[in-house]
Amino acid sequence: MSSNKVTTPSPANETDKVSSSFSAKKAKYSWEMLPQEPPKTDDLPPQYKDRTIVVREVRKEWCSVGKIVNMDKRVKRMDKSDSGVEKIRNKFYALVRPEEKEEEFDSPEFDKCTPEGYTEKVVEPLSDDEKQEATRKIKAAKGGIKVDGTNFHLVWREIAGYERLVLDDKTNDQTGGRVVCTFEDCFKYLGTSGVAPFCSAHRSHWEYVVSDYEDKGSITPIFFHSITPFTYENEEKKAERASTALNKAISTGTDLTPWDCYAKEFTDAKLPPPTYTEIPGRRRYFTTEQEANKVYAARQYVTLLRKLVPATSTFRYLNKNVALPNGAETAVLEEMKNWGMQIGISKYLDRESRASLPYPFGKEREGKQVASSMVVAKEHGVLYVVSNPHINYFGKTLTGDKLHEIKNQNDTVAKYSLMEGNLPWELIPLSSCPVDELEANEAHLHLANSFADLLRIHQQFVSDPPYTSPEGSTPFDAYPICLNKFTNAKYFDDTSFTKINQFMLKRYGVEIYIGPTY
Ligand SMILES: [Zn+2]
Repeated sequence: MSSNKVTTPSPANETDKVSSSFSAKKAKYSWEMLPQEPPKTDDLPPQYKDRTIVVREVRKEWCSVGKIVNMDKRVKRMDKSDSGVEKIRNKFYALVRPEEKEEEFDSPEFDKCTPEGYTEKVVEPLSDDEKQEATRKIKAAKGGIKVDGTNFHLVWREIAGYERLVLDDKTNDQTGGRVVCTFEDCFKYLGTSGVAPFCSAHRSHWEYVVSDYEDKGSITPIFFHSITPFTYENEEKKAERASTALNKAISTGTDLTPWDCYAKEFTDAKLPPPTYTEIPGRRRYFTTEQEANKVYAARQYVTLLRKLVPATSTFRYLNKNVALPNGAETAVLEEMKNWGMQIGISKYLDRESRASLPYPFGKEREGKQVASSMVVAKEHGVLYVVSNPHINYFGKTLTGDKLHEIKNQNDTVAKYSLMEGNLPWELIPLSSCPVDELEANEAHLHLANSFADLLRIHQQFVSDPPYTSPEGSTPFDAYPICLNKFTNAKYFDDTSFTKINQFMLKRYGVEIYIGPTY
């Protein structure tokens, strides 16, 4: 058995230009898990013995990690202030897809915190053929094609020696038009040139940086995570440019970021504003958005786990929206190792023994009750699971109807279903609980779902399935993945783990161990 001693993580091997007195820091932030009895694994069935996080090799796009940074969305968001890029895009799409209507679904803080169930609208980008067809129509149109709601016309013309898609301002003959960037879904026309790639966004090479910060002025440890894309001109400038981008992401001057919300507490109380400091050794650089999001999600998730276990001191974590680390098993394992933490299974109960156990999240469903009959307007909502052998998705409802309709393309389940060619699923109500406890209970279920995914626990939510299982197997043989993508850290406290484990034991028949490595 290895030592139970756990202190602040050791510095990562990545380039770190801010490294200073790491040992001094260690003294102040002596957060340690309290020693625990290692789980008695002798009584566990063979499949759960010594079970820890299982790295799944194949992950489909719909079950990926919650994306905090999403460059596609960022580019679209920037368009909103970019004098009609959205309108140009809509017009271009409409040339080959007349029925397409754009709806406002984005919000300014969208990529900072994406609430559950509020996902990107699924619009298939134009194929190369469709783009060519749209371009052909523009070439054929005499005088170009008017962009609705603007004075612009889309024309095809020679500009600075290149044949390009050009945006022409008919009210201003002097401009000669601007080149429209036709890379991917871009359609930018400001700051473009005829030389490919056409726009600055497509000329820039983005990398990503993740780091941790603290408020050194606080007696209680207070920290948060940050992630951002950035660009740099050469290696010497890399750390500086990353710092600038991080600072911009941390404090926007509005009160939308976790740090801004925290700083507002001080200004509201007429106190001098707090200052944040980067924690030495925690900065990491990434060349892809996907890898950055994985490590970011893993750090957020392990922070949440640290909130659950008995420890020598408490801390305050400023991030609220926590990305669930679906498909980031390796990153979670690494981050847990940093903290000397292990997750496993400490108990197993067969189906008969579970029946009499308490249920932690309200009043359990009786018989075949449906969600709509379990709600009481303005008093009780319902917690449910959407399940099939591939996925589990835990959710809540105040009405019990219109859940995950396929026409709602912002919906996580509808989106999944769409991408998988309408795979059938069932919605099983779990319990009803007072409205003011609904979101907290739901957040606990998100974590339970993620434990079951990471530890590869058998499907337990099977009621009246509209699907069949392969010959010789049952739906209970499946190891569903967690379809929930985010949870909210504010709902977790030192009573949370007991409740989650009650649920795990009652519904999955397993108790989770989170504690020092043994
Ligand atoms: Zn572009």
